[in-house]
Amino acid sequence: MSHVAYQERGDVAVEADYVVVGTGAGGAAAAVVLARSGASVIMVEAGPWREPHDYAHSTYGAMRDMMDDWGSTFTMGRALWPVVQARLVGGTTVINSAICVRTPLDIFEEWQRDHGVGGPGFAERIWRFQDQLEDELCVAETAPESMGRSNQLALKGDAAAGFDGHVIKRYAKGCLGSGQCLQGCRSMRKQSTNLNYVPEVLRRGGQLLSCAPADRIVFEGTRAVGVSGRFIHPQTRSKGARFTARARKGVFIAASVTHSPVLLRRSGLTHAAVGAGFRAHPGTGVFGVYDEPVDQNFGVTQGWASTRFREDGGLKLETLSIPMEMAISRLAGGGRAFMERIVGYRHLAMWVHALRARSVGSVRAGFGGKPIVRYSFDEYDMARFRAGMVRVAELHFAAGATAVLPGIQGLPYSLGPGELDVIANGPLDPRRYVAILSHLFGGCMMGADVTRSVCDARGRVHGRQGLYVADASLMPNNIGINPQHTIMALAMLVAEDALAER
Ligand SMILES: Cc1cc2nc3c(=O)[nH]c(=O)nc-3n(C[C@H](O)[C@H](O)[C@H](O)COP(=O)(O)OP(=O)(O)OC[C@H]3O[C@@H](n4cnc5c(N)ncnc54)[C@H](O)[C@@H]3O)c2cc1C
Ligand code: SF4
Repeated sequence: MSHVAYQERGDVAVEADYVVVGTGAGGAAAAVVLARSGASVIMVEAGPWREPHDYAHSTYGAMRDMMDDWGSTFTMGRALWPVVQARLVGGTTVINSAICVRTPLDIFEEWQRDHGVGGPGFAERIWRFQDQLEDELCVAETAPESMGRSNQLALKGDAAAGFDGHVIKRYAKGCLGSGQCLQGCRSMRKQSTNLNYVPEVLRRGGQLLSCAPADRIVFEGTRAVGVSGRFIHPQTRSKGARFTARARKGVFIAASVTHSPVLLRRSGLTHAAVGAGFRAHPGTGVFGVYDEPVDQNFGVTQGWASTRFREDGGLKLETLSIPMEMAISRLAGGGRAFMERIVGYRHLAMWVHALRARSVGSVRAGFGGKPIVRYSFDEYDMARFRAGMVRVAELHFAAGATAVLPGIQGLPYSLGPGELDVIANGPLDPRRYVAILSHLFGGCMMGADVTRSVCDARGRVHGRQGLYVADASLMPNNIGINPQHTIMALAMLVAEDALAER
């Protein structure tokens, strides 16, 4: 059988040329390159297979069915900020906004200058894979009819404020603008990897073990020869049968920034660099209040962005429509006043910024193997984070908002156009801000210095044979752009180079 889901008893043992752990952005991209070469591939995925018609409508349902540990991973530091990742076939591509951004040249220059990876021809190879991905995953600019009012207002504000923004390109085919990307696209317009590369690997004779978190990498001497673990029931979370997936030629780890380093450590790779270099784009939103209804839940989830402040300020500004129940969690108060604020939901537009933070953290295994992310913001990052909120508020006022709701603890609930200095002089304590970390980097960083890195530029784990990393954990810096396109192209490059070794 090509897909083996949860098994209560009866050990499962399978074998192929390659085993790929994780089916998200990196894992699925690596697996499809391997399968297209004619190699046999087993994909081992911690989460379940979910059919799009079965995706939850609500945020609560998405957290229950799709998120890693119900979305309960938080940064351990000065502030407890959620670290959001998915756990199902397709990984975080199922719950993301499908924004596609090509890797800029300065990233390759930084990788080479600071980490000794890359060099002549490297950027061109990544860009070639990105051409291929754009073609295969139907990347296109959001069509005007899918934009919705929130994105149109951002375009208007941008024209007035001069933020040099643009309509976002996404991996979506005929997006209907239903604003449901974060709960999974039930109409299958978003090109998450569970709809394309994972089924293609299966069609090419590959196998999938789902509900199957790999617990250990199996070694013979220093050569990786497979992975093992126990099935986990997708609802009860109870443990089932054992599984072993053996690899004749290589094992690819693509279990995400939080899980890949933990899996390596559990498997005996206790080198200090494993789990080091955790970086992120902490982001937060500011609501704009408009006289006319915005109805942010109609229109594409994210349709407008500006990178004008990427170099100077490390900021990316974007629209982000969020479901009503998530919006309500940002509306403070109680009783009648709170009910009135909820009624006002139709008049709110949520726009966000994501910061290219310089702060660095780490990932380690906690109780029961759950990743512990230690991460705190320094004052420099906090000041830029706060400045990003001012930019978002400026954009709202330029678009005609009558007020903004900054959501900063201790500050007024609502601010008018002349009151932006209240945010600009706001607190520098991260605990007063609501933020999430959704773009993550590092943990198994690539680099030339074996004391500071886990892998080389071809994803090969130092000191081991047949073991590769092919996900966001490879990235040695914070790239300051939406990362999926870079992760997928990097994973394809790692897979292509592994095939060339044979
Ligand atoms: C809400 C949200 C919106 C986003 N929007 C965008 C966007 O619009 N554009 C963009 O470029 N980026 C976006 N991102 C980020 C992007 O989705 C991620 O950076 C990317 O998916 C990471 O790829 P990955 O392969 O490293 O990990 P993932 O895609 O998370 O895949 C990891 C996979 O490994 C599995 N796994 C974990 N542990 C194990 C184990 N032990 N054994 C087996 N399997 C395991 C997981 O279940 C998961 O399926 C968004 C992220 C979030 C959270
Ligand atoms: S906005 Fe709606 S239709 Fe478009 S990709 Fe997202 S969930 Fe799918």
